[in-house]
Amino acid sequence: MDFSEDPVLDAIRTTVQRVYESEIAPNIGQYESSGDFPYSIIRAMGDAGLFGAAFPDEFGGTGAGFAAVAAIAEEISRLSPGFGYAMNMQAMTCPFTIFNWGTPEQARKYVPELISGRKIGMFALTEPGGGSDPGGAMRTTARRDGESYVLNGSKIWITFSNAADIGVLFAKTDPDAGKRGISAFIVEPKSAPGYNARPIDMRPLSNCLRSCEVFLEDFRVPVANRLGAEGDGLKIALNALEYGRLTVSGRLVGLAQACFDETLRYAREREVGGQTIGHYQMIQHPIADVAVGIDAARLMLQRMAWLMDNGERSTRAAARAKYLASEVAQKAAQTARDTFAAYALAEEYPINKLTAYVNMLTVGEGTPNVQRVLIAEDALGFKDANRHPVMNPLRKSL
Ligand SMILES: Cc1cc2nc3c(=O)[nH]c(=O)nc-3n(C[C@H](O)[C@H](O)[C@H](O)COP(=O)(O)OP(=O)(O)OC[C@H]3O[C@@H](n4cnc5c(N)ncnc54)[C@H](O)[C@@H]3O)c2cc1C
Repeated sequence: MDFSEDPVLDAIRTTVQRVYESEIAPNIGQYESSGDFPYSIIRAMGDAGLFGAAFPDEFGGTGAGFAAVAAIAEEISRLSPGFGYAMNMQAMTCPFTIFNWGTPEQARKYVPELISGRKIGMFALTEPGGGSDPGGAMRTTARRDGESYVLNGSKIWITFSNAADIGVLFAKTDPDAGKRGISAFIVEPKSAPGYNARPIDMRPLSNCLRSCEVFLEDFRVPVANRLGAEGDGLKIALNALEYGRLTVSGRLVGLAQACFDETLRYAREREVGGQTIGHYQMIQHPIADVAVGIDAARLMLQRMAWLMDNGERSTRAAARAKYLASEVAQKAAQTARDTFAAYALAEEYPINKLTAYVNMLTVGEGTPNVQRVLIAEDALGFKDANRHPVMNPLRKSL
């Protein structure tokens, strides 16, 4: 075991900070006020290699690995939480699912475009009937018609779907076969009629990096764009969510750190009753809890990344890491709110916004309840969380 600082990860964090200072901080205000999608920033993040860590050189990746993915997700979320979404759409759930499950031709066509930031990605699984049971809730259908599938239905909460060029989307090719009737598709929303995305108002979250309702009306997808075999959809989706838990956990740790940094700064500055509030024990106690919680959540994140980097089964570790990261981020947000008291609501401080991001992100890639079900059933011996072999067929063949 080696807990020493990793110079490669340190350099990667420095790159994230540089991109933040030169590309995000000076430009984000104009995008937030106009609501326009920040294509130029996503492109700059891609150019800096922030999306390519899980991919080899020949796909335009850096090959830095999953520990690097986690570090980038953490750092970008600490600095600018809205751009944490990009780590899922441009660096993990969308391109990695195509990389993992696509044919070599599909992977070569789509992955480099996504991780360079030249094209915008999305991952469209959730439907209005309930995100925690994506298989049971799915009503969207894909009917085969010659060399196309014709898709009809709707999705909800789909991040970047108002800007996406490329997406992984799930629909039922056999509506009578239940969860076994789901298939995955690579879609190009701008390529054919019948695709519409309507942004959801999620204030105080970002006004330019949005999630949307998606409506599909006789939207055609070529048969060549099916990902995996008919009926493989749920397996592909669950595998994608497991890798997504890496970026989401990293983002939650970054958010917890941002809340904690603000709490410490304010507790050192704010004077009440003749001393700075950081000297009051009741302010100190939750600070101690959050300090330890962030340490623990980061270590579990790193263990998950290590398992993924070493091709080991990681489902159990991913559920536990995501659950702990959610709990710690919520505790960090609550501590920030309590420490700032009324000023948590003031526009000049970011507490309200950070708290909203924490609340939103605990839901992504499986709610805390969903993780707890997985963790408890595994601990009780009802369902081994690590029962599935590592599923990355294309990675193995490279
Ligand atoms: C900002 C944002 C961005 C998103 N981006 C995407 C995206 O890009 N692509 C995508 O596909 N989805 C996306 N989602 C959707 C997200 O994955 C779902 O919101 C999530 O899966 C939960 O689904 P739900 O909101 O429908 O909650 P529900 O499934 O309706 O759950 C409601 C409550 O019931 C609990 N519950 C449900 N089932 C159980 C159970 N078996 N045991 C115990 N408790 C249970 C849940 O924990 C929760 O507390 C996004 C969501 C948000 C908020």
